[in-house]
Amino acid sequence: MPATDLEQIVNLCKRRGFVYPSAEIYGGFRSSYDYGPLGSLMLRNVKDAWVRAMVQERDDVMLIDAAILGPHAVFEASGHLANFSDPLVDCTVCKKRFREDQLDDRDCPQKMKGCTFTEARAFNLMFKTHAGPVEGEGTDVFMRPETAQGMFVNFANVLQTSRRKPPFGIAQVGKSFRNEITPGNFIFRTREFEQMEMEYFVPPAESAKWYEYWCQERMNWYIEYGIPADMLRLRAHASDELSHYSAGTSDIEFKFPWGWGELEGIAQRTDFDLKRHAEYSKQKLDYFDQATNERYVPFVVEPAAGANRTMAAFLLAAYDEDVVNDESRTVLRLHPRLAPYQVAVLPLSKKDTLMPLAKEIYSKLAKRYMCEFDETQAIGRRYRRQDEIGTPFCVTVDFDSLEDGAVTIRERDTTNQERVAISDLENELRVKIGF
Ligand code: ATP
Repeated sequence: MPATDLEQIVNLCKRRGFVYPSAEIYGGFRSSYDYGPLGSLMLRNVKDAWVRAMVQERDDVMLIDAAILGPHAVFEASGHLANFSDPLVDCTVCKKRFREDQLDDRDCPQKMKGCTFTEARAFNLMFKTHAGPVEGEGTDVFMRPETAQGMFVNFANVLQTSRRKPPFGIAQVGKSFRNEITPGNFIFRTREFEQMEMEYFVPPAESAKWYEYWCQERMNWYIEYGIPADMLRLRAHASDELSHYSAGTSDIEFKFPWGWGELEGIAQRTDFDLKRHAEYSKQKLDYFDQATNERYVPFVVEPAAGANRTMAAFLLAAYDEDVVNDESRTVLRLHPRLAPYQVAVLPLSKKDTLMPLAKEIYSKLAKRYMCEFDETQAIGRRYRRQDEIGTPFCVTVDFDSLEDGAVTIRERDTTNQERVAISDLENELRVKIGF
């Protein structure tokens, strides 16, 4: 059964080295997190799985990596300076701050008696800094609040160098920054986070069709990587919820322990962004179709996901507790492509006789998979550890291995063990792991 309490995941993440509170030795830096040895591998796997589906396995989407810092002009054109704000209210009793749109019935979440709120103020979420050595003399620059603008300002560059025609997409994975009023729920909402976004440029008449297409594709991606369908839903925004640029948005939501929460938004951004950047930069940002002799500004369909939130969802969905040989265990049933390690190589004993063979096997497998080598404790405890960090397969090298040239493959989900010849090991694992 998936985790029902966020603390189950928070504790596991800390204990096993997935996610640590940032700057912990200084008492922590509120709502910031550092990804440890396992978490950084898993986060990278989440992003790689996205790039695989969105770029590698398609012939119509290209990846870019744009700058994080941007000038005033970009965010003036995008509308972020004027519109990217949340309604901030203060409770006059408990003095806490809230996002007005997240309050139920205007009840203070602190449940203080007689709470009243101030009028809502628009609070801009952009982080501003300055470029140049002397503060005040340089120009103000902004940390991007989404990766999307990198795709719009590079539209003409990519179009020219790739010689594509709509429909085609530009994708990017990278950090974004928002000065959130109420960060929280572990890595669900932080001020610094990673996004996985794709702008799909289409002929205007095809926008609705592609919107439907991407809603479906993206739902399938989460299911393919292990989230049960009943923990996902697609929720269309009501008209008063829509962003200033959107002609229709649906969120893919995950059933978090505290309720449904957004993993990804799929928006019809129309021609808003390209038109605004064309207007502000005075450059042509359109497409000339030689077949029809027509010039038009493409419409955009944007699937925009968050890597950290998605990682939290994969962890929650994969979490399980079961009983094996009368002993309870915690197991992360992660997809092999998401698990930090695909294989752990475990010599049964630390004795010198086993080490060379075990190391040799590790070196070979490590060329193909992210592997862990662990010779530390009793074998049963090592299996438990690998179960808890989601490693789908353990390869155990024992004293018989020296005689029969075989090792044991132990499967995380079933705990089944199977003896295979070392000469067949790579092939066996390839079949079992699926890549
Ligand atoms: P929310 O309503 O939760 O604030 P949003 O609708 O503003 O999110 P988008 O602008 O659509 O979010 O960004 C796309 C994705 O980026 C979100 O679906 C989410 O996964 C991720 N994301 C946005 N803000 C944060 C944040 N503060 N921390 C972590 N991930 C975030």
